[in-house]
Amino acid sequence: MRYISTRGQAPALNFEDVLLAGLASDGGLYVPENLPRFTLEEIASWAGLPYHELAFRVMRPFVAGSIPDADFKRILEETYGVFAHRAVAPLRQLDGNEWVLELFHGPTLAFKDFALQLLGRLLDHVLAKRGERVVIMGATSGDTGSAAIEGCKACDNVDIFIMHPHNRVSEVQRRQMTTILGENIHNIAIEGNFDDCQEMVKASFADQGFLKGTRLVAVNSINWARIMAQIVYYFHAALQLGAPARSIAFSVPTGNFGDIFAGYLARNMGLPVSQLIVATNRNDILHRFMSGNRYDKDTLHPSLSPSMDIMVSSNFERLLFDLHGRNGAAVGELMNDFKRTGKLTVADERWTEARRLFDSLAVDDEQTCRTIAEVFAECGELLDPHTAIGVRAARECRRSLATPMVTLGTAHPVKFPDAVKQAGVGKALSLPAHLADLFEREERCTVLPNDLAAVQAFVSGHGNRGKPL
Ligand SMILES: *Cc1c(COP(=O)(O)O)cnc(C)c1O
Repeated sequence: MRYISTRGQAPALNFEDVLLAGLASDGGLYVPENLPRFTLEEIASWAGLPYHELAFRVMRPFVAGSIPDADFKRILEETYGVFAHRAVAPLRQLDGNEWVLELFHGPTLAFKDFALQLLGRLLDHVLAKRGERVVIMGATSGDTGSAAIEGCKACDNVDIFIMHPHNRVSEVQRRQMTTILGENIHNIAIEGNFDDCQEMVKASFADQGFLKGTRLVAVNSINWARIMAQIVYYFHAALQLGAPARSIAFSVPTGNFGDIFAGYLARNMGLPVSQLIVATNRNDILHRFMSGNRYDKDTLHPSLSPSMDIMVSSNFERLLFDLHGRNGAAVGELMNDFKRTGKLTVADERWTEARRLFDSLAVDDEQTCRTIAEVFAECGELLDPHTAIGVRAARECRRSLATPMVTLGTAHPVKFPDAVKQAGVGKALSLPAHLADLFEREERCTVLPNDLAAVQAFVSGHGNRGKPL
């Protein structure tokens, strides 16, 4: 499989190189040159497969030529073997024909484990073969950092540096990062905000001299392997509910357009998906585009669903590429204009196509809390605030009661106790067994000033299993 850039100017890469690449050299994002397409008979034959075996069949075309079948099978069995539920991604019923797909049974209790557990293992496999080591740098406001650290902690060939804003992440979120101890794991608390952390990651990618030749790898959702891993659970859920003999609707809480884009790809690969709903919080740039053809940068509104607090959606460019007939030059022009003006609209017929593909809704904090309370009263299921946004959108935007509606359950409610409390649900929340002693564990973290030179000096001083590069 070959991968091309959404801006059309960078060289095509194979899977192995895409895994190690961040942005393409032309500033674009990598996408498969040709999407695999499965027949309905083929999809039907996968009914009842365990998660890792289904994952092998869905993702095999994407890694073809880079990862041998036997290795890929072993990696997938290991990856999804660490999940705390035997079904890996179980469906929980809320109402007659309405479900939540629980994607929070991985080590860090959010759906990001599906991709980052796999990414860490794939990286280590490829790097061992090449005899290379890499450095990962990432910025996090919460969920991504812990999932990336958990995914990479056993990697022999990776040193990972995760920056979070000092005193600005929840205690559970901080401890999920800082209590994972290993000589290749480096938590940095920056005396600044999340944007400061992200800017330092960006600047480090732009000028990598401080790494003395060691490659820098990205783990945010622009990494193609993350999107790829997320395609699988759409197939898994749909097969459980009778696809491909019938079609399924999905509602997806999203900020960076990563998770919903994976659903869009699943449909393009042949899965009968009748409806895809983009569910956002008040940071609703995606909903503004879908409902009014205005993709305009707004200020950041902190919300009860912090993992979706974004100003721009980094994966939206992948959709724009398809909407423009895969014309990289046209996308490059649009994105350059957007960078300059903070605004983007597309031609009418392209926007009409986007509206045919997606429905959307923005849900504020008050509606989020009301939905948590509503669902708890109806069936006793406790939703986290991100999932609640998905359920609200599913209920408002649903087109057919006869079609099963699945909302992606992106996090365990114990990660967001404030929202649950504000919703007035008096259910005591406790951490799952594997995290029960989280508050007693030793923490390791370095506090650094909001200063690029200091951060880069720290990385080059510790980037080789804690020793200098
Ligand atoms: C990251 C995250 C999301 C949003 O994911 P996208 O990649 O923006 O689609 C939603 N919910 C939770 C709990 C998350 O951690």
